[in-house]
Amino acid sequence: MISSSPAEDIELILRSRDKQSDKTEITNAKWKAEKTALIICDMWDDHWCKSAARRVGELAPRLNETVKIAREKGIFIIHAPSSVVDFYKDTPQRKLAQNAPFAKAPIKLSTAPRWGTNWCWTDPKYEGVLPIDDSDMGCSCEGEKCEIREAWSRQFEGIELVEGDALTDDGQETYNLLAERGIDNVILCGVHLNMCVLGRPFAIRQMVKLGKNVALMRDMTDTMYNPERPPGVDHFTGTDLVIGHVEKYWCPSFTSTDITGKEPFRFQEDKRQSSD
Ligand SMILES: [Zn+2]
Repeated sequence: MISSSPAEDIELILRSRDKQSDKTEITNAKWKAEKTALIICDMWDDHWCKSAARRVGELAPRLNETVKIAREKGIFIIHAPSSVVDFYKDTPQRKLAQNAPFAKAPIKLSTAPRWGTNWCWTDPKYEGVLPIDDSDMGCSCEGEKCEIREAWSRQFEGIELVEGDALTDDGQETYNLLAERGIDNVILCGVHLNMCVLGRPFAIRQMVKLGKNVALMRDMTDTMYNPERPPGVDHFTGTDLVIGHVEKYWCPSFTSTDITGKEPFRFQEDKRQSSD
C-alpha cells in the first residue's frame, strides 16, 4: 500500500436527481483525500471539431488550477488522455501506472471495443436513453460542419504532470492504481461527458460498476452536442441535460468550488442567465 503525506478531508456538496420526479437532492459528503482519485478524461491538445477544441482550450487552465489544489490536498491524480498515452511512454507518470501491481477487479472489466479501448456502452439496466442526440458526433459549429478525424497527439500541454501523478487510458491499470492505494472515491472530469467521460474503461460507468464512490465535477466537463439535433436546445443546455442524466442514473455531481473555494467554471460562450 502506498500512503501519502498528511491529507485533509474534502467536503463535497453532492447533487443527485430522483429517477421519477427529476427533482435534485443535495447531500454533504466528507471524503478522505488520500482515499480519493481525480481522473482527467481526454483533455487532448486538439480536436476534430473546432468548437470543441476551443472549449477545451478555455477549460484547461481552470482545470489545471483545480487539479493543482486537489493534488495539494492529497488527492491522487490520474491523467487519462485516451489513445495518446504513448506520447508519455518514458515519463514517470506512465511508468507508475504500468508498474502498479495487478489487482483482480470484483467484476469483469468491460472488453467491448470502441475507439481503440474497452468501452462501457449505454446500459439499459442502469439508465434511460441519453437526453441529447449525438448520433452525428456532435459538432456544434455553426455553418459548415467539421470533418471527423483523429486530431489529437497528447494531453493539453497546460495540464501539468507532477511527480506522484499517474497516466493511463487502461481500465485494468486504473484499477491497479486504485487498489494499490486503497482508493474508494473517484472524481471524474474532462471531456466529453456524453461519450468518453461515461464510456471509457476508467470512466463513470466502469467505476460505478466496480463499486467505487463516484462523483462528476460538473463544471469541468463539456459535451459533443450539436444544437441542430434533438432536443434542439443550445449547446450548454445540452450539457446540463447530460449532467442531469448522470445525476439520475450514475453518480452525483459537484462543482470545482468544493475544491478551490472559487466560483464554478463557466464557458464564455454560455450566455444563459444561470446554469448551475
Ligand atoms: Zn465543429
